[in-house]
Amino acid sequence: MGGGPAGCAMALRLMQNGCTPTILERSSFSTSRVGEALLPEAEGLLKTLDVWDQFKREDFEPTSGIVSAWGSDKTAVSSFLFQPFSQGWNLDRAHFDRMLLCECAGRGCHVDRPAGPMRVSKSGTVWNVQIGSKSYQADILVDATGRSASIATRLGATRVPGNRLMALVGYMRTSDLDDPRLLIESAPSGWWYSAGLPNDQLVVAYLTDADLIPRHVNERTDWWRHLVRRLPHTSQRIEATSLLEPLRLVNANTSWLDESSGEGWIAIGDAAISLDPLSGNGIIRALKTGIAAAESVVSERSDFATSRFFGDLIHSLARESTEQSRLTHQRETRWEDQVFWQRRTSVDSEPKNCRNLHSIKSSFENGIA
Ligand SMILES: Cc1cc2nc3c(=O)[nH]c(=O)nc-3n(C[C@H](O)[C@H](O)[C@H](O)COP(=O)(O)OP(=O)(O)OC[C@H]3O[C@@H](n4cnc5c(N)ncnc54)[C@H](O)[C@@H]3O)c2cc1C
Repeated sequence: MGGGPAGCAMALRLMQNGCTPTILERSSFSTSRVGEALLPEAEGLLKTLDVWDQFKREDFEPTSGIVSAWGSDKTAVSSFLFQPFSQGWNLDRAHFDRMLLCECAGRGCHVDRPAGPMRVSKSGTVWNVQIGSKSYQADILVDATGRSASIATRLGATRVPGNRLMALVGYMRTSDLDDPRLLIESAPSGWWYSAGLPNDQLVVAYLTDADLIPRHVNERTDWWRHLVRRLPHTSQRIEATSLLEPLRLVNANTSWLDESSGEGWIAIGDAAISLDPLSGNGIIRALKTGIAAAESVVSERSDFATSRFFGDLIHSLARESTEQSRLTHQRETRWEDQVFWQRRTSVDSEPKNCRNLHSIKSSFENGIA
């Protein structure tokens, strides 16, 4: 269920191994999607999934690194040059997701877009999913529905919130952006990212806590504009630009499932764990968990109820990324008296009930999963 990067990666990997999955996707990808920066590591994963040639044919914006003004007004550059794959991309995310789903359909995956209320039940070992007037049967049910984790939460899992981060995202038209690289800039009550996208577009997003955003929708645009104009670097990118559509408020919090698998079902990608976008690797994580889950099914390690592999992996990722996030936020010392920064630098920001299983995480990162 869900045809984003995680669901498509799992389906593509299953098909490479002779399986015939079905993807149920509710969207037609006709509106913009957030999550635009694709790290160089994606090249190896897209090659594994045999979609690299198609990806190269698309008009995504190549980038050579990330620029940041974090801890000071001065910018620093993290270059991709010395990484195994030396180029990243700024994506039109809806286009990227549609491309992956088309590749799935083109290789024989059954892709459907049912609409209506959903019911999930099980007879013996077979799942029955009823959506509107359509019904589907499956041996293994995969929750790849992103942060909503629609299947897992129906099956009794609980979403554990790590923070209250939200993003106010604007898309703009720009014809003369000298440098399309992702720019990250910290601010007194949050941080901003912006990046040049294909088709002369610019995405500008403000990340802050839900309770620090004006409650009334019609106050938000002026507030957002006022804040962005005060930024030394991002403000220069938005000169002479205007919003193409109203600002979008998007959940960007760190959260995960207390149980990410059970008998005959598994959650992958953001459905299992979604991290602060500052980590910058949500798409990579989605592709990796999709591939790992497919390999688990193919190698008949699909007894997800008894296998602790996925649950342990998710808890390990949650713990380590929260620690990484705290260290990154601690490097910004200009606004120690501001609640946004205090919430992220205190020891209480560590997630509870997470096991520290470095060996599992490193086997995942090395692709052994
Ligand atoms: C503000 C923000 C910025 C980000 N920036 C980046 C970035 O620069 N780089 C990066 O790598 N990551 C970024 N991320 C994270 C990244 O977008 C996610 O980690 C990634 O999209 C996860 O992929 P997924 O396939 O698990 O879930 P999703 O991409 O959310 O896909 C889920 C799919 O399931 C479908 N779906 C949902 N519910 C149902 C249902 N009930 N029935 C059928 N279909 C359903 C949806 O339509 C969607 O297609 C960002 C996230 C946020 C919030």
